[in-house]
Amino acid sequence: SIEVVDVRPHERHYGVYVVRFEDGTERIATKNLTPGKRVYGERLIKWGGDEYREWNPYRSKLAAAIVNGLKLVPIREGTHMLYLGAASGTTPSHISDIVGEKGLIYSVEFSPRVFREFMEKLVDQGRRNVVPILGDARFPYQYAHYIKGVDVVYIDVAQPAQAKILADNADYFLKPGGYVMLVIKAMSIDVTAPATETFKQEINTLKERGYEILETVHLEPYDTAHAMVIARKK
Ligand code: SAM
Repeated sequence: SIEVVDVRPHERHYGVYVVRFEDGTERIATKNLTPGKRVYGERLIKWGGDEYREWNPYRSKLAAAIVNGLKLVPIREGTHMLYLGAASGTTPSHISDIVGEKGLIYSVEFSPRVFREFMEKLVDQGRRNVVPILGDARFPYQYAHYIKGVDVVYIDVAQPAQAKILADNADYFLKPGGYVMLVIKAMSIDVTAPATETFKQEINTLKERGYEILETVHLEPYDTAHAMVIARKK
């Protein structure tokens, strides 16, 4: 296997690291909160007495956004987040590494089969900062009693009207001054082509609901169909 020559903190993002290999290639990673355990077959990297998990931008849209230069990642040690569309936990697992033991990720997923896989991986592995919720993000009142105020609401449910679902959840759970992170099906493969109708509609919904759009990043070439949007309530 290829040798690691350096691991350094990412110059911009808290809890994100840059691993350099002997062939000169670099990858991002997070420090493993549950050493020895993998979540999705990712490479584990030992360096300086710590263990890191490679964060694959082809598997995680947040990783793709970071590799593509996203500036504003509102996630720190101790951040509390509501994550809508947890799937089997690939991206939540890296956020779990970043926020650490004082952080919390309420993770909502509505497919029982996917949810069970998620539970087995993250909870059984001892990631105590992940709170799995089997629920439908369109109906936040269904899980309102489980959740206290959060600093960030993240949505990646791959459904139409995501911006509305996001804003409805933020109305319930987002603390004043908090951020929202939205994965939107958006761009055509041709980066020079104009944004799609869906994209414009979703952005408009956010604006109508009182959000200021702070940053938008394409996820190509890691994901040809989506963009990551960061916004904040005015
Ligand atoms: N965010 C995940 C990651 O990066 O690791 C991948 C999310 S996947 C694209 C979308 C997930 O949202 C699916 O697992 C799907 O079952 C879930 N989903 C779709 N609609 C939902 C809803 N209304 N409420 C909760 N989860 C939903």
